[in-house]
Amino acid sequence: MKTKCEACGAPLQNDSDASICSYECTFCSACTAEMDNLCPNCGGELCARPRRTTGAVQITRRAPARLLRSLRARR
Ligand SMILES: [Zn+2]
Ligand SMILES: [Zn+2]
Repeated sequence: MKTKCEACGAPLQNDSDASICSYECTFCSACTAEMDNLCPNCGGELCARPRRTTGAVQITRRAPARLLRSLRARR
């Protein structure tokens, strides 16, 4: 994940609003709006970047047990 906007150089945290194109050019939300959701580097569509939270590791570790339980309950 890139840590700053490629247009204005604003710092982007893992959990801050940002947009990326399919080549992972990364822009802050202000620049994305200014560029009409089009990447100036490749002309591609800019989409909201998924946020990465610090709790992600714990959630993945806990998921399988919870998933199995809900699968069993459905049968
Ligand atoms: Zn920017
Ligand atoms: Zn691009």
